[in-house]
Amino acid sequence: MNTLSDSSRRGFITNSAMLCAHLSLAPLFVSLSGGNAHGRTTANGFEPAYLTLHQTGELKKRAENLQQLMESCSLCPRQCGVNRLQGETGFCRSPGTTLVISSAHPHFGEERPLVGHRGSGTIFFAHCGLRCVFCQNWEISHMGRGNRNAEEQLADMMLQLQQRGCHNINLVSPSHYSAAILAALDIAAGKGLRLPIVYNTCGWERLEILQVLDGIVDIYLPDFKFWDPDIAIKYSADADDYPDVTRAAILEMQRQVGVARPNNSGVMERGLMIRHLVMPNNKGGSVDIINWIAANLPHDTYVNIMAQYTPHFRAFDFPEISRRISSEEYRAVVDTAKSAGLTNLDVQGHWWLRR
Ligand code: SF4
Repeated sequence: MNTLSDSSRRGFITNSAMLCAHLSLAPLFVSLSGGNAHGRTTANGFEPAYLTLHQTGELKKRAENLQQLMESCSLCPRQCGVNRLQGETGFCRSPGTTLVISSAHPHFGEERPLVGHRGSGTIFFAHCGLRCVFCQNWEISHMGRGNRNAEEQLADMMLQLQQRGCHNINLVSPSHYSAAILAALDIAAGKGLRLPIVYNTCGWERLEILQVLDGIVDIYLPDFKFWDPDIAIKYSADADDYPDVTRAAILEMQRQVGVARPNNSGVMERGLMIRHLVMPNNKGGSVDIINWIAANLPHDTYVNIMAQYTPHFRAFDFPEISRRISSEEYRAVVDTAKSAGLTNLDVQGHWWLRR
């Protein structure tokens, strides 16, 4: 689960109600498959990873395999063991097998290669298995604000986002709904969905689940939040394995999709895009995280160094994270990344660095 600590996501939530209403109207059909909703590729010749698996029946099978894991739920590293198929609720508070979706619409505040000209087709799922104390969208992630939906409705949302001309389907906080998402994707693929799938996650993903997603997800968009297990314990509900699990997860994501490179139109269609949110007083362990990326991944790995930390929710219970970061704190992380040899950095504008 993403803790949604960047301003772009805040804007996304703020505007959701209004834009969702627009989405339901779906006034404009702009197909990325050259005008044919059932076309195989986009105008750029892109074919989504999941299409072959849909055609062979493998996608449906994998959705069923993930659903079986919900009998003693182990969809995320909490591994609660509750029987969600019988309606039991685990740490994430997701209601059994039902999807809870907060909003779905073209989003223009994500990374530029995901936004392009027509926006990232973002679907925001409620509830969370990580539940950070500083989450600025705590109403959604902690309290579960959203509407209950069936898999068929999620498939329709994906298709409507495609009709709106979005460049991708951006699944925000998908982990605890991965089984239903795959089932919905199978339905949507059968009805003509051809957009790349963005798996927008907190990074805290089990390898076993990621391996099920191999060949389905086109773009992985993980956070790497904390380096120190004690910090993860303190701010993310005792998730002491966050650093270890996330390191292994990011390596697996890299293995599956490789370095993210935009197409000729500047739009990303496949690859790994890492987000790191710089926290006050270096509580995220930014330097260690950046150096680990440089030592373990290609130097042209896409890394978004985010400056927009803002204390929300229970952050004010922790004085050390109850303020925004300074320009000096941010600049130090960017300088570290450049010194480490990382060449594909997404950083705040120079105006911010000069503050
Ligand atoms: S997805 Fe929810 S119920 Fe399942 S293991 Fe994670 S926190 Fe527990």
